[in-house]
Amino acid sequence: MKSENSLMALFGGTFDPIHYGHLRPVEQLTQEICLEKVILLPNNVPPHRAQPEASAAQRLKMVQLAVAGNSLFSVDDRELQRDTPSYTIETLETLRKERGTDHALAFIIGQDSLLTLYKWHRWQSLLDVCHLVVLARPGYPRQLATPELQRWYDAHTIEDASRLRQYPQGFIYQANTPLLDISATEIRQRRHEGRDCSDLLPFSVERYIESQGLYRA
Ligand code: ATP
Repeated sequence: MKSENSLMALFGGTFDPIHYGHLRPVEQLTQEICLEKVILLPNNVPPHRAQPEASAAQRLKMVQLAVAGNSLFSVDDRELQRDTPSYTIETLETLRKERGTDHALAFIIGQDSLLTLYKWHRWQSLLDVCHLVVLARPGYPRQLATPELQRWYDAHTIEDASRLRQYPQGFIYQANTPLLDISATEIRQRRHEGRDCSDLLPFSVERYIESQGLYRA
């Protein structure tokens, strides 16, 4: 079904902490694919990841500080409100119901997440509720790990970004956003070693990390 509506994106993550590797490519993406709105969804205990160092409340606060005053972004803390692991597909299905069937929705992931997508709960259902927009990330290959994932990727990938707005869901788009070699792991590591990381994340987030004594040695 065609939808000539606006395109809204969802961007999930552990955000332990949020950094420029999350924010800058997504800001660039707004021009590339004509994004109207980006909703940041901090994850609660993702099933396939180790536990975060910062608490859920601290991670949420860092996300809120990072985008304060930036009208492109809003923050949705629904996954943090739950005690149980949140599966991305279930959150996306709920958001799709709230948004209605006609409006275009895109879920943004980094290349590293695409490479392990076949491990996600009901991963093949993601395209039933949204598009997938993939951000390139330094050090992660384009070649996918399993033939099944590669076939699925090839069958749904589009080059023309305008189709993301024209259809509510169902396509995969590889973004041409700049490569940023930043990870939350590196930030935590630098902090553990007492090193500066002001070039990797917004000042407001850095100040909060300092005030909370996060990621100390
Ligand atoms: P960690 O180092 O703790 O694994 P991370 O830096 O990968 O964390 P996450 O919060 O796990 O950050 O990432 C959320 C989403 O953002 C994921 O889909 C991830 O692939 C993507 N992402 C993170 N950093 C980058 C980056 N530098 N470039 C592109 N995508 C990124």
